[in-house]
Amino acid sequence: MKKLSLLGATGSIGQQTLDVIQQHREEFSLAAFSAGRNIEETRKIILNFQPELVSVERREDAEKLKAEFPAVTILYGEEGLMEAAVFQSAEILVNAVVGSVGLNPTLQAIEAGKTIAIANKETLVTAGHLVMAAAQRHNVALLPVDSEHSAIFQCLQGEKEKNIERLVLTASGGSFRDRTREDLQHVTVQEALNHPNWSMGAKITIDSATMMNKGLEVIEAHWLFHLPYEQIDVILHRESIIHSMVEFQDSSVIAQLGTPDMRVPIQYALTYPDRLPLPAAQRLNLLEVGQLHFQPVDRERFRMLALAYQAGKAGGTVPTVLNAANEAAVAAFLDGKITFLQIDEMVERALEKHQPLSNPDLETIQQTDKEARNFVHSLL
Ligand code: NDP
Ligand code: MG
Repeated sequence: MKKLSLLGATGSIGQQTLDVIQQHREEFSLAAFSAGRNIEETRKIILNFQPELVSVERREDAEKLKAEFPAVTILYGEEGLMEAAVFQSAEILVNAVVGSVGLNPTLQAIEAGKTIAIANKETLVTAGHLVMAAAQRHNVALLPVDSEHSAIFQCLQGEKEKNIERLVLTASGGSFRDRTREDLQHVTVQEALNHPNWSMGAKITIDSATMMNKGLEVIEAHWLFHLPYEQIDVILHRESIIHSMVEFQDSSVIAQLGTPDMRVPIQYALTYPDRLPLPAAQRLNLLEVGQLHFQPVDRERFRMLALAYQAGKAGGTVPTVLNAANEAAVAAFLDGKITFLQIDEMVERALEKHQPLSNPDLETIQQTDKEARNFVHSLL
């Protein structure tokens, strides 16, 4: 029986992780979890999975839950999130919170020797060098949950990193893949939230529409697979059937395929290096799919992808600014405060204004993150 701690249990990845646990009750149990403000769902999870520790964002919600569930340890805030991340009896931490708020808990869990199943890509973007160094120091495995990275990880089983020629990340293109930049002037939040292939949390759905999601994933791949940016490519593949590919030195290409279902990569991270059946997943029928399509990504049209490559190559505090400015700008767009195209503009301005620092420590990362958010807020 593997005991898990799950951060972000009320979110899209969190709920799908719970579904995987539900389907394999004899293999996995939920020892601890965190939620944000969705208390109704938090109650349901406690009743269904009987965890020992729960953390929520706000104190008042924690007080309510304490009265209802006296046998469960209920915590709140940043400290609670940290306690859930390092919960003693949990062997694996599934980090499925959204945003750089996931960085500290990840670092703490690594220090506590937990295996990390990482969905929270912002952690690797904002401080990949710190996370990877800590994982190496503590000999802890970082298992990808993001579908592209899980695909690459699966393609690399039994292979040597030195034999990789390049990684090819596939991108669905998001909600606006068939529109020109001019068409994007007046798009609404509702339209942006309407992803053709995947049902995900609001932030990542907007990131998919701007293609920042793919940019963040390029940086995530750089850290997870120890490759320079020149060896990481992106192509548009609208069906999301090929989840990503690895090309080797001998010209051989290995791809991982399947119907788009995040429970598959989530479960693989939990069962690795083994696999388990996942009866609820729809099997891939290539005869039904018939055709797969591929196109180059226009980096003028999807400016955020170009910005992410630049930020990744620059390194130091630059990816931290890219990520934090994007988080603030996407939140402002979701709040109706800025237009869709202003997301790109604000991230670009935050990057222009920033004086990069190399090899930043945790404190510098946190300070930079805060400054970038404040800068975006000052533009609103
Ligand atoms: P959601 O927005 O659906 O869920 C986010 C979770 O984090 C919720 O449980 C939320 O709580 C919690 N949360 C939000 N803010 C805070 C905070 N300040 N402190 C503590 N908890 C917080 O996001 P997703 O599940 O879509 O994404 C999670 C991560 O996984 C992201 O990094 C995303 O990029 C990545 N990812 C997601 C995929 C997907 O298919 N959804 C695919 C690949 C990667 P509450 O709702 O209770 O307020
Ligand atoms: Mg992805």
